[in-house]
Amino acid sequence: MIDSARLLVLKAAYMMDTVGNKGAKSEIAMIKVLAPVMAQQIIDWSIQAHGGGGVSDDFAVAQLWAHNRTLRIADGPDEVHRNAIAKIELSKYASLHGETLDMPVTRS
Ligand SMILES: Cc1cc2nc3c(=O)[nH]c(=O)nc-3n(C[C@H](O)[C@H](O)[C@H](O)COP(=O)(O)OP(=O)(O)OC[C@H]3O[C@@H](n4cnc5c(N)ncnc54)[C@H](O)[C@@H]3O)c2cc1C
Repeated sequence: MIDSARLLVLKAAYMMDTVGNKGAKSEIAMIKVLAPVMAQQIIDWSIQAHGGGGVSDDFAVAQLWAHNRTLRIADGPDEVHRNAIAKIELSKYASLHGETLDMPVTRS
């Protein structure tokens, strides 16, 4: 799970360096969803392993969960990035039939 996010981050960074941000927009949207969701699950497991202490101030895990949770909203909520990914993928096939799809604006 961690490795899948790590590899996708590396792919997105490689594409940003080689084909630019526009060419990497699909991978950028993917890591903006995948990395925080992955981290959220890992931190949640950590809270569970700590038991009641995991939701207290005795350990940092509850604070980490709350901080990480903001990453699924800031810079566009997950839904916006998921919609962007779907439209980019669908546009590949729509263009085969001479159709065009309006691309979403994920940041102003
Ligand atoms: C910690 C933090 C730091 C931030 N830093 C910055 C910053 O530095 N600069 C800046 O400009 N902004 C910043 N923001 C604002 C952030 O970009 C917005 O909170 C974010 O874009 C969501 O907008 P909103 O809060 O108005 O929620 P809304 O747009 O009202 O969205 C609420 C919910 O509605 C759903 N939703 C919204 N749009 C869609 C859609 N198109 N399709 C499907 N569902 C949708 C989602 O479930 C979403 O979570 C920050 C936010 C946080 C929490």
